[in-house]
Amino acid sequence: MSGVLVLIEHRQGAVRDVSWEMLAAGRKLALELGTGCAAVLFGGDEAMAASAAGRVEQVIHARHELLADFNYEAYQRALVALVRERGASVVLVAHTAFGADLGPSLAVALDCAVVSDAVGFAKSDEGLVVTRGLYASKLCADRLVPAMPVVLMGRQSNFKPDEPGVGGAVEAWDPAGVLAEPLRTRFITLEELPVTGIDITKAEVVIGVGRGVKEEANLVPVRELAEALGAVLAGSRPVIDAGWLEKERQVGSSGKTVKPKLYIALGISGSFQHVAGMKGAETIIAVNKDPRAPIFSVAHYGIVDDLLKVVPALKQKLEEMKS
Ligand SMILES: Cc1cc2nc3c(=O)[nH]c(=O)nc-3n(C[C@H](O)[C@H](O)[C@H](O)COP(=O)(O)OP(=O)(O)OC[C@H]3O[C@@H](n4cnc5c(N)ncnc54)[C@H](O)[C@@H]3O)c2cc1C
Repeated sequence: MSGVLVLIEHRQGAVRDVSWEMLAAGRKLALELGTGCAAVLFGGDEAMAASAAGRVEQVIHARHELLADFNYEAYQRALVALVRERGASVVLVAHTAFGADLGPSLAVALDCAVVSDAVGFAKSDEGLVVTRGLYASKLCADRLVPAMPVVLMGRQSNFKPDEPGVGGAVEAWDPAGVLAEPLRTRFITLEELPVTGIDITKAEVVIGVGRGVKEEANLVPVRELAEALGAVLAGSRPVIDAGWLEKERQVGSSGKTVKPKLYIALGISGSFQHVAGMKGAETIIAVNKDPRAPIFSVAHYGIVDDLLKVVPALKQKLEEMKS
């Protein structure tokens, strides 16, 4: 029996890596609950189903024109039907933009609990205990889910994917019945932003600027420091959303993943979405005036101070060293 259903996310013809993380978490959870785990692939092709079958014992593959691209409503209907048909106890989706769209509405449709930003699970006598992040990952809380089913939204870059090699079975599932009624929303197109030629993923030194920089004018000394260091400027999402830096410079789960020799995080709190994009850097230096900022838990070196004081001081030191 597949008590744990894990949704496979794909976009532009490719399975997203986060799906393999969720699949590994789902298999572990299924073991804990003494049940089976199945990957659920909506849309996609045989190759995607086969790669999922390399990582889990069962893949449920549903193909339909309304499932070809992500549509929370179509996905929700199909998942509700699957949960009821299979008597599943857990639906695990990634806490991504897709998952954030789907998870809560799926829980409403199933009339069950939803736990977002889930980072760990444990079975207890009273039910399932789910550990989740709070306050931009500054705290963790254990939530008891006494009754199943439950929708879990797993944190990205938190679970290690399993190596492929399982040799699972692919089962075709026909969703036509549940998609017969018209949907209220439909997928039209996915537009990629125009490429400006900046590639932060190739840089050896990256300076990441966060909301702590406060205003665009404060980027001037940061740019000067970047120039002195031969670094490329990048930013957290709020800085990109404010239009202070180009979208191509966004680091994180909905931006780019960088693995430079040195990453300097200036005024970045260290949300898991940001950390997902820079934790692979060889050396991380964080500057933040809050000593409890989560960024310090991934940083190799930390400076607890105002970045507007630290940045000019660093630049001056570099100039002294050069002369
Ligand atoms: C689906 C989804 C996808 C997302 N994708 C991304 C993504 O790809 N990348 C990303 O970055 N975020 C992403 N986010 C947003 C993410 O959740 C956080 O909101 C964001 O990373 C916070 O950015 P920040 O650290 O710059 O700002 P904040 O969390 O506001 O942190 C600002 C920090 O600056 C410090 N500070 C303030 N003033 C100073 C000063 N003078 N000197 C030094 N330190 C100072 C503060 O102590 C604080 O720690 C995503 C969110 C969602 C829901």
